[in-house]
Amino acid sequence: MSIIESEHVKFTYGDAWVLNDISFTTCEGEFLGIIGPNGSGKTTLIKIIDGLLMPQQGSILIDGQNIRTIRRDDIAKQIAVVPQDSPIIFSFTVQEVVMMGRAPHLGRLRFEGKTDFEIVRKAMEITDILPFASRSINELSGGERQRVLIARALAQQPQIILLDESTAFLDIKHQVDFFDLIKALNKEAGLTVITVTHDINLASLFCDRVLLLRDGIIHGIGTPHEVITESNIKEVYEANVMVDRNPVTGLPRVTLLASHPAD
Ligand code: ADP
Repeated sequence: MSIIESEHVKFTYGDAWVLNDISFTTCEGEFLGIIGPNGSGKTTLIKIIDGLLMPQQGSILIDGQNIRTIRRDDIAKQIAVVPQDSPIIFSFTVQEVVMMGRAPHLGRLRFEGKTDFEIVRKAMEITDILPFASRSINELSGGERQRVLIARALAQQPQIILLDESTAFLDIKHQVDFFDLIKALNKEAGLTVITVTHDINLASLFCDRVLLLRDGIIHGIGTPHEVITESNIKEVYEANVMVDRNPVTGLPRVTLLASHPAD
């Protein structure tokens, strides 16, 4: 069953179309990757799916309902976003930041109950941040802070998680740990995942389908085998690459080719 439908979405910040006639559906429990060069419209598309920006033409349906008609709090009950790394200006503790994920679920008086604390604890446990629950968020490394933002998103108990370059500042171990965790939630809890990433090999490894954007237009959407081809990547990124199959996984693998490689 489709959980997100984008129907002929067009969006502009004022000049040209940044997204031009974007139509695709995401099924419940799917892991979809969005790839494409800088400026191709990936972040804008994530903001539109989250209802932060409204398309000038076309529509986004969440569970069949037009996002324009869904209240902000109700969107937040269904969709959580993990940004790249958002600066948190005030000195909140880790637990306070994770508790912010419960905001859309709290009653009118905004008091947290026992269940909220249990959910927050569980989210911190899964993301391995319990040991520093009472530390200030500003005292953590980029990788640790990123795990706090994931915990906040999990505490939201969403059906859909949107990841916008969420692993950009993580080292390779934490990148793979992060995607393993998201994949486990995707498989075990049926979480629908949409991730923007620059790392095409990570997209190949974890995504059921990949959407390749070029200048606000869908250049291709399909399985990694269908989309991550040498001709697509060369054409869209204008980069000299070789695409073959990863000998371990059999999935498409992109290798950058330099004009002047080291000897
Ligand atoms: P990507 O995530 O693929 O790098 P973006 O969605 O961030 O692409 O940006 C797509 C285009 O929209 C770019 O040309 C960018 O300069 C422009 N853009 C993004 N945000 C704004 C904004 N707030 N105001 C005006 N133009 C913007």
